[in-house]
Amino acid sequence: MLPDAAAAENGAPVGVGDPVFPSLGTTGYDALAYDLAFRYRPATHTVDATAVLTARALTALPSLELDALGLDVHTVRVDGRAAGFRTHDEKLTVVPDQPVRRGAVLQVTVEYTVDPRAHLPHTGWVPTADGFAVAGQPDGAHTVFPCNDHPSDKARLTVAVTAPDGLLGVATGHLSATGHDDGTASGGAAGGSVGGTGDGSGAAGDDGPTTTRWYVSREPVATEVVQVSVGTYTVRERTGPGGLPLRDVVPTARAADLEPALALTPAQLEWAQQRLGPFPFETYGLLPADTDDPAAFDFTGLETQTLTLYKPNFLRQAERQIGSHMMHELVHSWFGNSVSPRSWADLWLNEGHADFYGLMYRYERGWADSAGFTTLADRMRDVYAAGDQWRHDSGPVAAPTAATLFDSQRYTGGALVLFALRERVGADAFDRIERTFLQRYRGGSATTADYIRTAAEVSGGDVTAFLTDWLHGERTPPMPGHPDWTVAPVDPTARRSAPAPRGTGTL
Ligand SMILES: [Zn+2]
Repeated sequence: MLPDAAAAENGAPVGVGDPVFPSLGTTGYDALAYDLAFRYRPATHTVDATAVLTARALTALPSLELDALGLDVHTVRVDGRAAGFRTHDEKLTVVPDQPVRRGAVLQVTVEYTVDPRAHLPHTGWVPTADGFAVAGQPDGAHTVFPCNDHPSDKARLTVAVTAPDGLLGVATGHLSATGHDDGTASGGAAGGSVGGTGDGSGAAGDDGPTTTRWYVSREPVATEVVQVSVGTYTVRERTGPGGLPLRDVVPTARAADLEPALALTPAQLEWAQQRLGPFPFETYGLLPADTDDPAAFDFTGLETQTLTLYKPNFLRQAERQIGSHMMHELVHSWFGNSVSPRSWADLWLNEGHADFYGLMYRYERGWADSAGFTTLADRMRDVYAAGDQWRHDSGPVAAPTAATLFDSQRYTGGALVLFALRERVGADAFDRIERTFLQRYRGGSATTADYIRTAAEVSGGDVTAFLTDWLHGERTPPMPGHPDWTVAPVDPTARRSAPAPRGTGTL
């Protein structure tokens, strides 16, 4: 179920063979579950954490590797017994006291401390004045917890977050239990543990009374979309279509200010479900983390599972300024989270679909886009004209590099491919392709080839060569039904097309 590994000289697997990030992950084991516990220490702004990885060995493992960067690891145990460990090259190599047999299910427990403000080559932490949030995509989750940091290996997830009273800890999934510690006991959080997780305790410390909240995810989660956050938050609950529980987590001081944006979600869900089928998770909501600092995270929103991370100031704008972007992030629940990219070369499956539906939502409401266009066809014609330049600058839609991964080519460039497919097969067949793909790969990961195969099978037409040209070709193919559309010649001296600030393609 995992791509072929790049093999090191000693035969040990190194990386899952991702074409964009070759060193990420391992094929040595299949991660089954992460049970994570985080305790926030406000005095030092640091986090004491315990990560329990449950995994099945896919080969005999004298040692095993987790992705890890910036974690101050104190102890590692394998199946409860102390294990040797070494951190190097964004990896944590663990040496159990005896080799793990192929097929065995093992538990690796890592106790560590981490500083969300640490300066690292790259990070998944978003530091705030009174806590933190997480933005792991694409390769930052392993600065938050040690893991097999690749979307091809999704797993069950529980998260315990302990924070001093006055602050509130939240995470991906639904709240399953709450425990209070009055700070006078000998240590640890009160309340039972969930799913075999650590109890969130470190030393009792001097943080005074604390509360631990346990979150459980009903569906598998990719490491890149795990959310954990601590802040001075208020939880706003509301009900979505079909009784879906909605949960927004907002900085308390800004809750009233942000309410008009948060109140838009139920109608957006209704619209998205009509096109994509039932919402795939147990809850949804927005997490405007309490920072607008461009250095904290350099994008507007990120689709962390069940709880989309946002810059709060963005959400203070009028609906016509934010509605299509909110739809973009919501659509990621289906394309990106429920169905994850099998490798980072498949990112267009996330971003192309999110932009395609985000733009449709915009134009249906008569909101002109940032370029002044008011119909999808007009916008697509404009993107089409730049097709060869984008392929020259950013590679084919399904062939990014680390440097071009988040370019517009993956966003509106991906939407253009979907537009071309719909022009070719018709709207009804296109809708069937979308729903079949979502149902078939729900809870897992899918490749670009999986999408092409589904499209060919469902449409009953020969679209394999057609989509292969659109997704992998060096030149922009003709647009079905629009013989008058033209592609501008490539200017090899032109500046490389600017990266699309993540998630702003629908603006
Ligand atoms: Zn996106």
